[in-house]
Amino acid sequence: MASATDPIRRLVLAFSRLPGIGEKTATRLTFFVLNGPPEVARELSAALADVRERVRFCSVCCNLTEADPCRFCADPRRDDRLVCVVESVPSLLAIERTGEFRGRYHVLHGVISPLDGVGPEQLRLKELVARVALGVDEVIVATNPSVEGEATALYIQRLMRPLGVRMTRIASGVSVGSDLEYADQATLGRALSARREM
Ligand SMILES: [Zn+2]
Repeated sequence: MASATDPIRRLVLAFSRLPGIGEKTATRLTFFVLNGPPEVARELSAALADVRERVRFCSVCCNLTEADPCRFCADPRRDDRLVCVVESVPSLLAIERTGEFRGRYHVLHGVISPLDGVGPEQLRLKELVARVALGVDEVIVATNPSVEGEATALYIQRLMRPLGVRMTRIASGVSVGSDLEYADQATLGRALSARREM
């Protein structure tokens, strides 16, 4: 067996830790980097280091950002009393593209998924509770309309109950099982304005 310091093996292992990348793809990527021009490897390595160095979690909404607070939290024209909970940054950006939402966001960075070993403690829920406790009128749960997204929405509803905040769920205009990030702007805009009480 090759040692972990074997550079080829090391890169294959590193790639295979990424989501959706199996050993075969990891090997293919490794040889692509190895056989390609040196600039490709240099750029990949610099981009990887840079993204970890410069991008952090917003201390308010847990969005990924270079500046803390992020641009959505820093914008004084947005409504502090309205918080839209999303499972990922791509979901946040999809809602933002509708132009229909002028409140704040909260990014969970995942959904509850026992099969994938993701429990509530791995999501940014403590941060959400702390924010809502400071005074929010409405929490809009905009997790994807998947089994995990719905389970997460119900979990959040239970979590928020003692805080007495109004809870709403985006309408099911977005088809079941699909990702918000792939919904068209008009559909997502309608799903947001037709949100229902939880
Ligand atoms: Zn933020």
